[in-house]
Amino acid sequence: MPDTRSPAPPHTDESLTREVVQFVSHVQQFLMQEQDLFGNIIYPSSERGGAKKGSKEPIVTDYPAEPWASTSTLTELNSTICQCQKCSLGATRIKFVFGVGNPNAEIVLIGEAPGADEDAQGEPFVGRAGQLLNKILEAIHLKREEVYICNILKCRPPGNRDPLPGEVEQCEPYLWKQLELIKPKIILCLGRISAQVLLKTTDTLTKLREGVHDYRGIPLLVTYHPAALLRNPNWKRPAWEDVQRLRKMYDEMKKT
Ligand code: URA
Repeated sequence: MPDTRSPAPPHTDESLTREVVQFVSHVQQFLMQEQDLFGNIIYPSSERGGAKKGSKEPIVTDYPAEPWASTSTLTELNSTICQCQKCSLGATRIKFVFGVGNPNAEIVLIGEAPGADEDAQGEPFVGRAGQLLNKILEAIHLKREEVYICNILKCRPPGNRDPLPGEVEQCEPYLWKQLELIKPKIILCLGRISAQVLLKTTDTLTKLREGVHDYRGIPLLVTYHPAALLRNPNWKRPAWEDVQRLRKMYDEMKKT
């Protein structure tokens, strides 16, 4: 049967632009809905209405009903949780490694879990990887004391194995509370594991390093773990580019 419909009108530049704008807007809406469901995509917090520094809005509301959840300073939080025995790492740790740095830091760096040096000293990133981290910070004109540094897990996994899902489940809420109290402007994840845990994804580090993610309203960047840079110095250049991007973003934020 012959097609009797009138042919579509030819595209003018104006109608094409309108269609492209509409398409992009639909894609954005779809991605934002996805993020609401899966909590992981590349939107700046300004478009997401996320918790702002100084706002009273909590970044998390689903804390366990436990005394530490209502603490109001990092010191109080630390002293309320430092005897934690919720997972088996409580029995093998030497020291609980809460976190270190400026309680009002605008940048928070998050690693995976304490290693042997950190376990012995009770402070994150104090071993060889920590020394490299200090140099990385210096390269972007930041001092260790200016930022805040912590880990997903507060206790050392034996033999530095990867954190187990049950350990993350018990420990991650402490990190939520730390972030709620600090209210950083930017989060930098050090390594794949910390990024995968926070963003609830199994994406590769290569993929994770690509965008600016949104962690409960806070822009989040991902770079190599300093220990990985010690093992493979070829990654130092891309890591340097990652932290330059962090610095640039931070400088832009400070202008507004
Ligand atoms: N690796 C981490 O992920 N965190 C530390 O604190 C030390 C090494």
